[in-house]
Amino acid sequence: MIDFTPTENDLAAFEHARAGALICRKYARYYDEHEEEMAPETLPETDEFYANHPEIPPPGAGDTSMLTRMARISMISYWGDYTVRLRRESGGLGNAALEAAGTPEQKKKWTGLCLSMAITEPGCGSDPSRVSTTAVLDEETDEWIINGEKIFVTTGIRADAVVLWATLDKSAGRGGIKSFLIEKGTPGFDVPHKEKKLGIRADDTAAYVFRDCRIPRANLLGGDESVARKDSGGFRGVMKTFNMTRPLTAAMGLGLAEASLDFTREQLEAAGIELDYMAGFGTQIAAAERFMRLEALFEASKLTTMQACWLAGEGKPNNMESSVSKAHAGGAVRAITQGCIEILGAMGVSRENLLEKWTRDCRITDIYEGTGEIQRLIIARGLLDYTRADLK
Ligand SMILES: Cc1cc2nc3c(=O)[nH]c(=O)nc-3n(C[C@H](O)[C@H](O)[C@H](O)COP(=O)(O)OP(=O)(O)OC[C@H]3O[C@@H](n4cnc5c(N)ncnc54)[C@H](O)[C@@H]3O)c2cc1C
Repeated sequence: MIDFTPTENDLAAFEHARAGALICRKYARYYDEHEEEMAPETLPETDEFYANHPEIPPPGAGDTSMLTRMARISMISYWGDYTVRLRRESGGLGNAALEAAGTPEQKKKWTGLCLSMAITEPGCGSDPSRVSTTAVLDEETDEWIINGEKIFVTTGIRADAVVLWATLDKSAGRGGIKSFLIEKGTPGFDVPHKEKKLGIRADDTAAYVFRDCRIPRANLLGGDESVARKDSGGFRGVMKTFNMTRPLTAAMGLGLAEASLDFTREQLEAAGIELDYMAGFGTQIAAAERFMRLEALFEASKLTTMQACWLAGEGKPNNMESSVSKAHAGGAVRAITQGCIEILGAMGVSRENLLEKWTRDCRITDIYEGTGEIQRLIIARGLLDYTRADLK
């Protein structure tokens, strides 16, 4: 039986996350409008929290057993805003990829680095098998030579290094794609600009260019053997990662939706509008009815997300469920934030409040780590037992 009742340990971890979220909330507007750093209040340190609570095991990288707790913590953190924390976090999407595809030696060597993940290119987004960045082995120097361009790299500026997808042989399609770790400062690796975005402006999304960038042979994730293996270090490793990160991405969006609902509920209560959950919809005033429907949508989305995490924690396949959680949340968070704006009118779009920002910030839930359309393709393949070739 699935039981999402938080344990004592979960509650302590949530309380810690909430304390940090309340501090981040204070800086949300500043980092939406300014690029430069300001000295913020000190956030409660997560390492210190776990050191002081030896009875609570910290979630390890790649550890699925605590994914439901991590999802709830993501919701709480994004409820507060991720601004300050985002700028301090030591890990990026590339860290999960290293965990999934790296050899034990590689994981040990690069532990502690903040790793971005670069797959998307100007001509390749939803269909990553079209990656055209190349990696060519120079047998004489034992180095890979990387050439290509990557765009929309999350934490692209703050990251110490990138996990990059490049092809060894374009004619081999997905089988030719491998992952490489490239450290910042390597000659031929440039960061030409930071992307300007609608939302999540606190995050430093960047473009990368690689021109005859030489890296050691040992920087191929999964090692030399992965060249012979059709998938290792490339598709399969990262797709496995997505089954863990997609529900967490859904959870981040849901944190913004929860913040919007909490704000709207406060405003309705201040206006004397009663939310009577025992009365039928037909007897509520319109704003209350609308609001309750948004709350129900939130709960449904939260449950699909927790279920996808729970399956991973149980070691069960969650490929389809992780896509369901992300596709559902992508639409739900947009409907919830827009719905809250419609209920509150001018107050909803005023920059005096954060609701308009949450509406912009949550848009990404349905774009990165596979758009809503791509998630629906994965779900359809799962339901109909179709292969990628059958339905694309
Ligand atoms: C803020 C931000 C951060 C990002 N961070 C990263 C990152 O860290 N690393 C990284 O590699 N990428 C990152 N991305 C890129 C992101 O993953 C891509 O934008 C996304 O995969 C979509 O690719 P695309 O933009 O090229 O759109 P396209 O693939 O060109 O798609 C355009 C539209 O067509 C639809 N579509 C495409 N194919 C199909 C199909 N077969 N059936 C139906 N509809 C389809 C899509 O859903 C979309 O609506 C980021 C993007 C943003 C905006």
